[in-house]
Amino acid sequence: MGSGFLKNTGAYLGIALIVIGVFYLMVSNQSSSEIAITEVISLAQDDRIENITVDGNNLTVTTNDYPPQKFTSRKESDSSMVDILQNAGVTNTVKITVKGASGVSNFLGIIINFLPLIFFGAILLFMMRQAQGTGSQAMSFGRSRARVSLGNKPGVTFGDVAGADEAKLELEEVVEFLKHAERFLSLGAKIPRGVLLVGPPGTGKTLLAKAVAGEAGVPFFSISGSEFVEMFVGVGAARVRDLFDQAKKNSPAIVFVDEIDAVGRHRGAGLGGGHDEREQTLNQILVEIDGFDSTSNVIVIAATNRPDILDPALLRPGRFDRRVTLDLPDIAGRQAILKVHSQGKPIDNNVNLEVVAKETPGFSGADLANLVNEAAILAARRKKTSITFDEFGESIDRVLLGPERKSRIISHLEREITAYHEAGHTIVGHLLPDCDPVQKVSIVSRGMAGGYTKSIPAEDRHMYSLDQFKSMMAMAMGGRVAEQIIFEKITTGASNDLENATRMARNMVVRYGMSENLGPRTFGEREEMVFLGRQISEQRDYSDNIAQQIDEEVKSLVTEAYDLAHSMISKNRAKLVQLARHLLTHETVEGEELITLLDSEAPPIESEVTHQPNE
Ligand code: ADP
Ligand code: MG
Ligand code: ZN
Repeated sequence: MGSGFLKNTGAYLGIALIVIGVFYLMVSNQSSSEIAITEVISLAQDDRIENITVDGNNLTVTTNDYPPQKFTSRKESDSSMVDILQNAGVTNTVKITVKGASGVSNFLGIIINFLPLIFFGAILLFMMRQAQGTGSQAMSFGRSRARVSLGNKPGVTFGDVAGADEAKLELEEVVEFLKHAERFLSLGAKIPRGVLLVGPPGTGKTLLAKAVAGEAGVPFFSISGSEFVEMFVGVGAARVRDLFDQAKKNSPAIVFVDEIDAVGRHRGAGLGGGHDEREQTLNQILVEIDGFDSTSNVIVIAATNRPDILDPALLRPGRFDRRVTLDLPDIAGRQAILKVHSQGKPIDNNVNLEVVAKETPGFSGADLANLVNEAAILAARRKKTSITFDEFGESIDRVLLGPERKSRIISHLEREITAYHEAGHTIVGHLLPDCDPVQKVSIVSRGMAGGYTKSIPAEDRHMYSLDQFKSMMAMAMGGRVAEQIIFEKITTGASNDLENATRMARNMVVRYGMSENLGPRTFGEREEMVFLGRQISEQRDYSDNIAQQIDEEVKSLVTEAYDLAHSMISKNRAKLVQLARHLLTHETVEGEELITLLDSEAPPIESEVTHQPNE
């Protein structure tokens, strides 16, 4: 409709222009020649005038010559022609005809006067229409913009969702409901109306909802919560109504509300604008869910990564009472997801997906899908015919730390400081049994980092002990300590490490109750600032005295970690130098090679620093 409207407007504008042109031509053609009012007077004095026609201020003068001549002229608006002639002392009689205001030419005059106004009005209207977006939107903003994908076609199935076995098991029930509603209804069972998928971003919530629709072969109406909050007040509610109407017409069907937290936050909380709108939209969703009669076989699946902030009304029985939790995948899950996404790609025989899975703790399904894709792109750019382990390794680092920045120019001194810094982390990480084993150390700059030391837990980890925290803090301090021992000065390169260590120490004290002096309790109430989105504020629930003690505890933990790192590196100075030198020549050491290097006897030190700081 957009282009049709444009064409019409163009046509109207064209016609308007032609009409204006014709009017002007007609008006200007009427007058053969224009003369001044003083000339009209002198013509009158010479008694040469047959007739003067007055039409408003326009005069048409016809002379009594043969053949008669016609002139046009204009008078001032507030003086009558009779007065003008009298004042000029014209004594001979002049025939004056005054045309009525309703004359045709007068009508034309009015139109001509108003034409610019009409013209601008048209342009304004046109621009307003344009601003509404793609034409039709102005008329239909209350309608749902749900994307519909009809069932019965192959689509996504449970086979495409790897891992997440428990979630799939629970959702299989929903598939049964959709497929064989009569069976449940005949036994008097109520079919659940809402399923809430909960899990961190990228764990496959959207994918799983689609898979349910695919398995059941029913239409899938999906809309994202954030789309509701987009426009004018009241629109969200209207969209919800429309969406559910469509779904009911196509029942059995699935309505999928993605990111429901965008509309489903606690009502009455938060400040500012979109709040009323959210409330109305949420109310409408609740009304619709409650309004399903027992025969309308529509199941609402909603997804969120923030179940904690959802309005309790959403979660009560009869609404989203089924909750399916999706966690970040464990190692077996990661391997399965990698397998799904490797299908149809030429993966080299040297790639062991189990190893890749092991090196990617904390990766979500989406991260892993991205990882495989990155590896494929990399292999293509390297003009390989299959994706090898090299590409996987590189892609993991890329996802974790950003792309390599080999071109970044750094001075010899900075490079050397980086080498000792990373070697420091590595030595401490390797020697402390509670640290995750170091897998790789490199002085190639990546993303924001000058170099990096990668340590990966042997198994997925959900808990940390006090000793682990202490060891991790010591490892974080290793970089700064090595710089200080070798160069006897400190740089800004360790700021991120210090931040991590300090945060860890503070959490140990205030959140995990790991401080001996302050005891096993938490300090401060963490509060979600709803109106600021992800902001978390901490409400102090302790005295100034305690605050001071917390600071002291944090300081003593950080200092303890620093001292531990210092003693380890001092004792292993020769090893530090050896590793740093190796890094300066090879840039990156990893895996077996790294372990062998770390466990071998270090050669004695002659001179440590090859480039003097004042170079
Ligand atoms: P969410 O909605 O939880 O944020 P998505 O469902 O949009 O995550 O997942 C994004 C992508 O990640 C999917 O399209 C899929 O390629 C991949 N993915 C996530 N989880 C899985 C899984 N369990 N199995 C296979 N692929 C997955
Ligand atoms: Mg999603
Ligand atoms: Zn560091």
